[in-house]
Amino acid sequence: MATYHGPRCKQCRSHGMKLFLKGQRCSTDKCAFERRAYGPGQHGQRRRRKTTEYGLQLKEKQKAKRTYGVLERQFKNYYKEAERQKGVTGENLMRILERRLDNIMYRLGFAPSRSAARAFVVHGHVQVNGRKVDIPSYLLKTGDEICVREKSRRIPEIRMSVDAKAGVGTVDWLELDPKKFAGRVLDMPSREQIPSPVNEQLIVNFYSR
Ligand code: SF4
Repeated sequence: MATYHGPRCKQCRSHGMKLFLKGQRCSTDKCAFERRAYGPGQHGQRRRRKTTEYGLQLKEKQKAKRTYGVLERQFKNYYKEAERQKGVTGENLMRILERRLDNIMYRLGFAPSRSAARAFVVHGHVQVNGRKVDIPSYLLKTGDEICVREKSRRIPEIRMSVDAKAGVGTVDWLELDPKKFAGRVLDMPSREQIPSPVNEQLIVNFYSR
C-alpha cells in the first residue's frame, strides 16, 4: 500500500488552509498553519503570482488527494469510476472518497486523523459486518456496520479519540454508538452532507481538458 510519508503541515501551508492531517495537534496552538499562515520554503512569504486556470485545477486535485490520503493512480481510478456512475461526476467522486473505510473511521471519531485511521485498519483493529477488514481503501455501502475489535478498544489513541468525539457526534449519514465503538452507514451522503473544502468541479475540469 503506497502512502505519502512527507511533511504534512507543509501541505496545509502550501494550500493556504488547514487540512486537518495530524489529528489532535491540528486543534491546538501547535498547529503550524496557526503559527505560520504562509507558504513553506524561503519564498513562502513572497506575494504569489496570479495562478492560471490549469494551476487552480491542479491544486484542487492535490488538495483532495492530500485530504483523503490518496495517491495519483488510485485517485484517477476513483475519477474514472465516478464518471461511469450516473449523476454528477464531481459529487460521485466525493462520495467514493467518503466511502473509504479509513475516512469513515475518522468521521466516526475512532481515529484522530485519516492517516491514524489508515494505520488502525492496516493493523487489523477494525471489523466491517463482523469480519476483520485491513484494507483502508475498502468502500463501504449503505447498511454496513463498522466497529473497533474488542481487544483493540484499550488502545489509548482510539480511546482518546472516541472520548473527544463523544459529545460532538458525527455526520448525519452515519450512526455512531461510542459506547460500543461501533457505527453504521445510514445512507450515501449528498454533497451538502460532506464537510470538505474541496471544489470538485475544478477537478472535473482538470480531467476533462
Ligand atoms: Fe495542517 Fe494539522 Fe499541521 Fe495544522 S497541525 S498545519 S491543520 S496538518
